[in-house]
Amino acid sequence: MYICLNCGEIFDKGKILHDDSGDYQVCPVCRDDDYSDAIKCELCGEYYSSLSIATEHFCARCIDEVRDTAREFMLRHLGGFERWALLEGMVEGEIKPEEIIPQGRPE
Ligand SMILES: [Zn+2]
Ligand SMILES: [Zn+2]
Repeated sequence: MYICLNCGEIFDKGKILHDDSGDYQVCPVCRDDDYSDAIKCELCGEYYSSLSIATEHFCARCIDEVRDTAREFMLRHLGGFERWALLEGMVEGEIKPEEIIPQGRPE
C-alpha cells in the first residue's frame, strides 16, 4: 500500500502515466508523484507514511494521544513532572527498572 504525501489518499496501484522517460506511477486522485509506503497503525487502523515517523507500528497521532493522556494521568496521580520524566525514562529504556527496584526484597 502507498500513501500520497500530497492529498493523503491510500492506494494499492497508482495511476500510470507516460512521458519521454517512460512509465511512472502517480496518486490516482491528485496525480502527484510524491508518495511513500503506507503503514497501518496497530492502534487506530489508519494508514500513515513510512517517512512521517520512525516507528513501524503506530501513527504519530496515536503516539501523541497516548503520550498526552499518560502525561496528564501521571501529573495528576504521580504528583509532579519529575516523576513523569523518570517514568518516561523507564519506558524509553534510559532507566532500567532493575536499577530502581529496592535491593534485598524478599522473594
Ligand atoms: Zn494524492
Ligand atoms: Zn494510530
